[in-house]
Amino acid sequence: MPAPGELVFEVPARGNPPLHLVDLDVDGRRAAMADLGLPAFRADQVSRHWFGRLDDDPSTWTDISPTDRETVGALLPPLLTPVRKLTCDDGSTVKFLWRLYDGSRVESVLMGYRDRITICVSSQAGCGMKCPFCATGQAGLTRNLSTAEIVEQVLAGSRMVRSGEFPGDRERVSNVVFMGMGEPLANYRALMGAIHRLVDPVPAGLGMSARGITVSTVGLVPRMRELADEGLPLRLAVSLHAPDDELRDTLVPINTRYRVAEVLDAAWFYAERTGRRISIEYALIKDVNDQRWRAELLANRLRGHLVHVNLIPLNPTPGSQWTASRPDDERAFVRVLEEAHVPVTVRDTRGREIDGACGQLAAAAP
Ligand code: SAH
Repeated sequence: MPAPGELVFEVPARGNPPLHLVDLDVDGRRAAMADLGLPAFRADQVSRHWFGRLDDDPSTWTDISPTDRETVGALLPPLLTPVRKLTCDDGSTVKFLWRLYDGSRVESVLMGYRDRITICVSSQAGCGMKCPFCATGQAGLTRNLSTAEIVEQVLAGSRMVRSGEFPGDRERVSNVVFMGMGEPLANYRALMGAIHRLVDPVPAGLGMSARGITVSTVGLVPRMRELADEGLPLRLAVSLHAPDDELRDTLVPINTRYRVAEVLDAAWFYAERTGRRISIEYALIKDVNDQRWRAELLANRLRGHLVHVNLIPLNPTPGSQWTASRPDDERAFVRVLEEAHVPVTVRDTRGREIDGACGQLAAAAP
């Protein structure tokens, strides 16, 4: 039981999604084959189809006998049922709404750029962090996703790219950002399982580059430090949104537990361990966090560190009294950071018309 007043950020799943091949590492897959009465090498064959060829249709796996293909099906339950697929930006942004085994819904967004294809995935159904400007935060946390539920979002996007249905001539999804629904570091075990499936070479996983994977967090300090010690050059994004504790306590409520100074210390520790530049996410909210003095305080706290600031014009959620900053205030904010030699960019927000932009993923009923 948590101590009185303690914030609980990890809720045990009520019931678990069915076990899937993708939940298991190589040894686990071999053991699972044995449990099904199949030779261990079947694990390797199935994994090559699943991760190497992105082929999820066992009827085409002709190197495996039809009876064994049927038996293996027990480890391949469908985890994501498509509810809706919405497209905008000339087809280069696609939002998927999925239904999970227990009726929970999550979303992912596939985005094509000139030099890469990125998929934004969910790590939880809902989110327990309660940030008042974020659509996902409003409904609260339903449950953690399993490793396979996370990885299957990436695979669904990859299969779409592979099938040629997605515009552009890129052949693979190269980047994954954990910026969909949920707080990834509050679902740490499943997150690390998913990351291993993404980066481990075929047949263990997809063989993606860890450098192309971004984990975004509200600042769960102990987990940020743990992530730094995983030995993977993942990109870490920290959703700061305010440079002072007084305002951050209201915008990112977990700040009452992990203060700005501790979050930034953990970020610098991460940068030192991994050599990777920290991304600071800062949603610019008109007259709330966009004042010149806050830009100066932010610059002072970040200057001299391995860091990049991503300013996101706030995407207002339905019923919110907040809106994006005035263009002049945004420009002034950028200038203060630039003058302090803190690298800064304003994020291009994709998928606005399909409610697929930052902070809008709410998995509304059809
Ligand atoms: N829980 C993680 C990841 C999910 S949110 C985190 O908070 O980092 C991904 C990013 O979108 C975060 O930086 C989040 O603060 C931002 N975001 C949420 N709602 C938003 C909104 N309405 N407008 C702009 N950005 C928003």
